[in-house]
Amino acid sequence: MVTTHNLGFPRIGAMRELKFALESYWKGESPLEELKLRGAALRRRHWQDQSNLDLVPVGDFAFYDQVLDMSFTLGHLPERVHGFHGDSLDNYFRVARGRSAKNAEDHGACCGGVAAGEMTKWFDTNYHYIVPEFSANTEFKLDPARLLEQLGEARAQGFKAKPVIIGPVTYLALGKAKDDSDKLALLPRLLPVYAELLAALAEHGVEWVQVDEPILVTELSAEWQQAYVTAYQALARGRVKLLLATYFGQLLDNLPLACKLPVQGLHLDAINARAEVDAVIEQLPQDRVLSLGVINGRNIWKTDLSSVLDWLEPVAKQLGERLWIAPSCSLLHVPVDLDSERKLDAEVRSWLAFALQKLGELKLLATALNRGRDAVKAELAVNAAAIAERRASPRVNNPAVKAALAKISPALGQRKNAYTARAGKQALLLNLPAYPTTTIGSFPQTSEIRHARNRFKNGALDEAGYKAAMQAEIERSVREQESLGLDVLVHGEAERNDMVEYFGEQLDGYAFSQFGWVQSYGSRCVKPPILFGDISRPKAMTVDWIKYAQSLTSKPMKGMLTGPVTILNWSFVRDDQPRSVSCYQLALAIREEVLDLEKAGVRVIQIDEAALREGLPLRKSEWQEYLDWAVQSFRITANGVEDETQIHTHMCYSEFNDIIASIAGMDADVITIETSRSDMELLDAFDNFNYPNEIGPGVYDIHSPNIPTQEHIVQLIKKAAERIPARRLWVNPDCGLKTRQWEEVIPALTNMVAAARMLRASA
Ligand code: GLN
Ligand code: ZN
Repeated sequence: MVTTHNLGFPRIGAMRELKFALESYWKGESPLEELKLRGAALRRRHWQDQSNLDLVPVGDFAFYDQVLDMSFTLGHLPERVHGFHGDSLDNYFRVARGRSAKNAEDHGACCGGVAAGEMTKWFDTNYHYIVPEFSANTEFKLDPARLLEQLGEARAQGFKAKPVIIGPVTYLALGKAKDDSDKLALLPRLLPVYAELLAALAEHGVEWVQVDEPILVTELSAEWQQAYVTAYQALARGRVKLLLATYFGQLLDNLPLACKLPVQGLHLDAINARAEVDAVIEQLPQDRVLSLGVINGRNIWKTDLSSVLDWLEPVAKQLGERLWIAPSCSLLHVPVDLDSERKLDAEVRSWLAFALQKLGELKLLATALNRGRDAVKAELAVNAAAIAERRASPRVNNPAVKAALAKISPALGQRKNAYTARAGKQALLLNLPAYPTTTIGSFPQTSEIRHARNRFKNGALDEAGYKAAMQAEIERSVREQESLGLDVLVHGEAERNDMVEYFGEQLDGYAFSQFGWVQSYGSRCVKPPILFGDISRPKAMTVDWIKYAQSLTSKPMKGMLTGPVTILNWSFVRDDQPRSVSCYQLALAIREEVLDLEKAGVRVIQIDEAALREGLPLRKSEWQEYLDWAVQSFRITANGVEDETQIHTHMCYSEFNDIIASIAGMDADVITIETSRSDMELLDAFDNFNYPNEIGPGVYDIHSPNIPTQEHIVQLIKKAAERIPARRLWVNPDCGLKTRQWEEVIPALTNMVAAARMLRASA
């Protein structure tokens, strides 16, 4: 008999109940007790949702983040929250977000406020965790209360529970040594606490513990590999059985290591590492459980059950009781329930599976393995029909798009002349001063904008009324920019709810869910659009808005687009073709928009690639391949224009020291980047690399409500001018201003423009 289990369940709730409970508590609108009760209710519901499984995960629920939960379990809190008293959940929120609820902050008076913990992306997902902060003095002290409490709940409700924890080596790897000390030196201090935790779980009757060690799918140095041996030899002495869980990729050179560690079971991501299943079966000692992640935990497509069974049946025969099956990784990364999607196009919907549907598929596979395919004949037939329909659907396959893709040649991504030749022509046409000033695209999303959009959505406002309201906002931002004295203007993006959704909604090949929320961090969720078919652009998407904005001013107005790589990286994408193919399709569609803007007389076009860096594979050895098609996609989008048209691009969070050559390869005339927070540290990349085109290192940190002073901006630009010739520098904020208030934006941009003028005067 094959055993079924799950690595983790989305905690936010099908209707984002956790989000609303958290935000209500933080705002001081409901007491802590209520938040705790709502958390317990969600856990209970989620276990019930998983009651078909042989083992349910416990400890995967977190009020903010599972890594932060682990830090608390290990008694590893940053020093700055040590003085606080009150409930430990309040301290937890302080670390997560700098403060807890309004009411709890009464303690602020006695113990002061704190800096929020640093947040970073969880592997190559869009989930962000709170980074553990280490120093040479870090100590650990077990606090198993949370885990034991949840374990008690699950068992009281009759579930067979498998606690989930983050393994010691991954925990260290995910943290940051604030004093640059050696994190691995902490291992001897950490392991006894893990051993104690496992002992406590054993005492409470736990048989299996899932120990997540996903860094095993990344490149590890010999020391880190050795740390695995040390760690698991120490933990092997306990009484519970350990299921070592790896996911998100292949083990490659860590495969022999993962197979020989003294644990009782190994979980392998059989979606990404299907090719390694045979090698693992061969190398894994005969007394071990092998858990195979056979359902994709990262996307929203139905599984082709028959084809999984084709390869899984012989494996099941060979492994017998030793085989477990599960989703490839925690279901944290997918929405909860497809059944809530009443408005989704029925055909597209029939191709999809969210978390609950994925667990249903898992159960079907188990039944087929345990009792033969005939036992689930009807269900398999329905599944096969959906898979076949999707494969053959004319909505997925557009021969014209495929033909255009086949015709792509390197020349398509090539500007007519090199930057040096273009720059002169653009300067003549645009007639800009030295240190030209601009912004990144969006202006504050005011309550008027949101109000008009909501009324338009629910039918209270007709299309003409909505258009007029947005035009009024555009006019307002043009007037403000003119009186600020900016040199290259933007229309302000009032009409865009989201920089990806806005384009997805207008492209063929995209669908949108209503409740397809996925946790991004804390209470924040994103609802990625679903790229299901060949991409085409039925008609121009932005031209009218930009033309209208340009008609209001004699200053150059930037056309504003989202680039193909960013649209791809922020969507659920197809599993029936490589990401690169979807990206090239997007590139061709956005290229048409670029050419239409140029035709409409737009002289400066910005193509945002905010998320280019996010798409980098987990292993450095695979970076170049990704960068090659990502950069080529951008080039196809951007580079069909005449020399006179100035192409801008923008990137956020671009620690791009290690990818600077690829960035230069995009050949944008101007790139604007985030640097203000790092005090121009980012520009270190320019020490060894001669960036050939123009660049606007962000001088105003738009993520903070603080107003940058003129002196500070001058100083930052002077610092940049040490690395990059002044004639190639632009002056701009470091991202869009959407999340700010006009009251903040106006003084900040006033100082920015004044700084540029001062630099010009002293040049
Ligand atoms: N043009 C977009 C804006 O200003 C860019 C946003 C981003 O980089 N995330 O909002
Ligand atoms: Zn940005």
